[in-house]
Amino acid sequence: MAAAVTGGLAVVGGGISGVTCAEQLAAQFPTDNILLITASPLIKAVTNVRQVSRVLEEFDVTERCSSELEARYPNLRVVRSAVRELRSDQKRITTEDGGEYSYSKLCLCTGAKPRVIVTGNPYVLGIRDTDSAQDFQRRLCDTRRVLIVGNGGIAMELVYEIEGCEVIWAVKDKSIGNAYFDAGAAEFLISQLQADKAATPLTCKRTRYAVDALTGGKAVGAGSALGPDWHQGLNLQASKEFSRCVHVEAETEVKRIFLQEEFELLNMTALPSPKSSSSHSSNPAEWPVYVQLTNGKTYGCDFIVSATGVIPNIEPFICGNKFDLGGDGGFRVDEHMRTSLPDIYAAGDVCTASWKPSPLWQQMRLWTQARQMGWYAAKCIAADITGETIEMDFCFELFAHVTKFFNYKVILLGKYNGQGLGTDHELMLRCTRGVEYVKMDLSSYGESLLDPNIDIEDYFD
Ligand code: FAD
Repeated sequence: MAAAVTGGLAVVGGGISGVTCAEQLAAQFPTDNILLITASPLIKAVTNVRQVSRVLEEFDVTERCSSELEARYPNLRVVRSAVRELRSDQKRITTEDGGEYSYSKLCLCTGAKPRVIVTGNPYVLGIRDTDSAQDFQRRLCDTRRVLIVGNGGIAMELVYEIEGCEVIWAVKDKSIGNAYFDAGAAEFLISQLQADKAATPLTCKRTRYAVDALTGGKAVGAGSALGPDWHQGLNLQASKEFSRCVHVEAETEVKRIFLQEEFELLNMTALPSPKSSSSHSSNPAEWPVYVQLTNGKTYGCDFIVSATGVIPNIEPFICGNKFDLGGDGGFRVDEHMRTSLPDIYAAGDVCTASWKPSPLWQQMRLWTQARQMGWYAAKCIAADITGETIEMDFCFELFAHVTKFFNYKVILLGKYNGQGLGTDHELMLRCTRGVEYVKMDLSSYGESLLDPNIDIEDYFD
């Protein structure tokens, strides 16, 4: 059993939020010992931060050995073991390897895990870390048809990237990607699914994800969440020769999943390939698993990817500790990233921002916000220790995110989808099929746009 470490500042989680928080604390308190406890053997490192504009930033993300972090910050010690228990009344943490650590202030940055539609079914996969992504790649090799459930960023990347097998994409909304854009933009993007993949991706200067050569591409167990470009090191080509073959089933959810034997016993029938001209049902014995959708359709497939959001990783901390939790299951944090328990902060995917947000900001469980929250949590911890006052950081004024969907660079700013505006609003739209889709808020221009002396072009240069 590891000796108890009496404590100073401790951070749990080796993802972007935890590492950023620990680095910042180590830099701000160079004579104090900072402890970073993480279940993953590798930690995330943010490098090459580039400030694109006041609110938009780009950076590279790599997975590194924790010794590199310790070398850079001699007062930072990394413990590689999962936290098993938190005794907030005693300010103590116990890890799986039997270590016991006390702390004066603690920041929880344990991320989130995929919310899979069913657990324990060998044909249903969630993608979260390097481990699960590689499992997915292995299965894809001899796949004829995969069913993807979900309408977020991961599902969108998968349907665009997978080649050489049929993809049935079940989305619960009317249009694809509605967490990120409206039906018009969805229409603009969906044509890309029919087009052949661009030979060379469009130039994209944004957050990149790389697994350090040290991992040799091996599975890394209870790792941190993947992020932008996570699929770039993977081969997402299935066994067939063709490129993309996607069929979208909109406004539907998974009702039941049947294994082959059960399906045969029930004497059920499944639909043929949506892309084939045949109207015959497929042979009942053809697929290892079948999915019945709420729209009444049933498809057979080789496996199912459940990309239906995430659940904050709070389990090891809640037993015996009365945390206030948000509606999405995260630790509620105030404007100083404090949870409801004394001297415990939280940042990144595991927390639920519960302060009154600026009218143009919303929480989304994204890489940029994990970094911003980790950095700001460290600042708040420091301010609480030194007794200084601290203002809410500017990054929480305006939501800003750069990403890429279907090979298009996508920039999301503020309430980019008119969130909270209901149906009573106007916006300006500029769309050139296959080239660009730009949406603007006109409220600051008001009626001046209608003034015939105003050259509208000037506004949009
Ligand atoms: P994580 O990165 O999940 O880190 C959590 C850390 O806590 C890990 O090190 C884990 O080992 C550790 N941990 C967990 N439990 C314990 C425990 N009990 N004890 C000790 N340590 C523990 N975001 C984007 O912005 N753009 C994208 O394109 C994008 N794509 C994504 C694609 C995929 C497949 C996934 C899964 C996520 C994607 N995200 C994307 C989301 C982004 O990766 C996350 O929002 C971000 O990584 C969250 O960082 P975090 O530090 O809060 O948590």
